[in-house]
Amino acid sequence: MSEREHISVDVVVIGAGLAGLASALRLARAGYSVRVVEAESGPGGRARTDWHEGRPVDRGFQVAFAAYPAFREFVREVGISGEDLRPFVGGGAFFDGAHWSQLSSSPKSIARFGALSPADRARCVRLAAELRFASPRTLLARDALAPTTEAFLLDRGFSRQAIDAVFRPLFGVIFLDRTLAPDPGYFQFLFSMLVRGPAVLPADGLGMIADWAAGAIRQAGGHFEFGSRVAALVREADGPVTGVRLDDLRQIRARAVVLAVDAPAARVLLSPVDPATAGGIPTDGASVTSARFAVDHSLYHGRLILLNAEPDTGESPRIDLLCQTTNVNRHGAVGGPHIVIATSIGDSDATAAGIEDAVERQVHRWNPTFPWASAAQSLGVVRHPFAQFRPLAGVRRRLPGPRTQVPNVVLAGEFTTHPSLEGAVSSGVTAADIVGRQLG
Ligand SMILES: Cc1cc2nc3c(=O)[nH]c(=O)nc-3n(C[C@H](O)[C@H](O)[C@H](O)COP(=O)(O)OP(=O)(O)OC[C@H]3O[C@@H](n4cnc5c(N)ncnc54)[C@H](O)[C@@H]3O)c2cc1C
Repeated sequence: MSEREHISVDVVVIGAGLAGLASALRLARAGYSVRVVEAESGPGGRARTDWHEGRPVDRGFQVAFAAYPAFREFVREVGISGEDLRPFVGGGAFFDGAHWSQLSSSPKSIARFGALSPADRARCVRLAAELRFASPRTLLARDALAPTTEAFLLDRGFSRQAIDAVFRPLFGVIFLDRTLAPDPGYFQFLFSMLVRGPAVLPADGLGMIADWAAGAIRQAGGHFEFGSRVAALVREADGPVTGVRLDDLRQIRARAVVLAVDAPAARVLLSPVDPATAGGIPTDGASVTSARFAVDHSLYHGRLILLNAEPDTGESPRIDLLCQTTNVNRHGAVGGPHIVIATSIGDSDATAAGIEDAVERQVHRWNPTFPWASAAQSLGVVRHPFAQFRPLAGVRRRLPGPRTQVPNVVLAGEFTTHPSLEGAVSSGVTAADIVGRQLG
């Protein structure tokens, strides 16, 4: 038996996404021996970053809101300064098929926004003022105000035109779901985050947070096993779990386990020891495909995203969002390559080449003179069949939360809270606090 087969620790954290990392950091800093087991070759999970010629290339386009409370605290704890969170000062530019209109989160920008009628602008300013100072917890609890976000907006008097031209393209790419079916409590939480501060990207891409967190965990004495998949939780009879078994049959003994994997993997690992809780893990996921490119000439200027606000024509795949991320995270850098990420929401059976062709067609519609074919080099297409769970009416209320029926197995991950970076980080902190109390 090798030395590694005898490992025994206080806590095994399964999964090095932001939930697992937030948990591991808190536990390691509290003095517990912590081992993080991650199937991939590095940390970050859905928030990982690749690199191309010194430029960060996220695996899918995503942003954090500067106002996310637990996320902001976590970023500070891992040592990333506010200056390294680069803001989308320009907000978003909406193209309706004929015109561009730009919207940032300031009340002034909303009051001037050309894609909304004066009456809808007034409704928007009112909603922003109402939500700006409300506590995130209160907003998240307002899930039963209406059956869907769309119904909530109609109740608030917004016109169908405002919903289709502004809310659907914008919240479609945040929910990763253009139906606007998510519950209104989650919508209000996100809307309040939007009006409290800018969307931000770390200077070295989203993966910077996971990389720095992993460094901080090591500094606090924690260890990582990358490229190791947990095959099962080990439990004797009806007692507590005694550790985990890895794919290569090695075992790690632990006094407690934080299960911080994605929802589909959590169901598989939890079912044999706690089928009741596993049965409550959401199965309905939003899917998204991201196409990444390195581009020789800058496609556009400004620290903003481009949104497809044209009505659905049934064209598939549809490109919903495009962002030259280096405008934001490498703001001020001279020359290329520029990194462009395009998002297509929903299931698409298009091949990678089909998605890339759709991006080329979209760029041509938006900027007909741009020489995309000669300027853009593909950096690969990434599919996320379960990018995040869908918070439809009642779903968040039925989530399992952190506790399971096996007291020393605690759940973390967006699927225990709400489907965001904030949800992941806050769930990790909660899980660590529960484990800390158990271990004493
Ligand atoms: C394309 C895309 C866009 C998004 N956009 C946004 C956005 O703009 N803003 C926002 O706030 N959120 C966004 N999200 C959601 C956000 O990324 C997630 O909510 C968050 O990253 C989830 O973190 P997590 O730690 O819960 O899970 P994950 O990041 O999935 O981490 C789980 C980890 O567990 C590992 N694992 C799984 N099974 C095993 C096993 N058996 N053994 C060992 N390891 C295992 C996985 O490899 C993974 O690293 C987006 C997600 C995607 C995919």
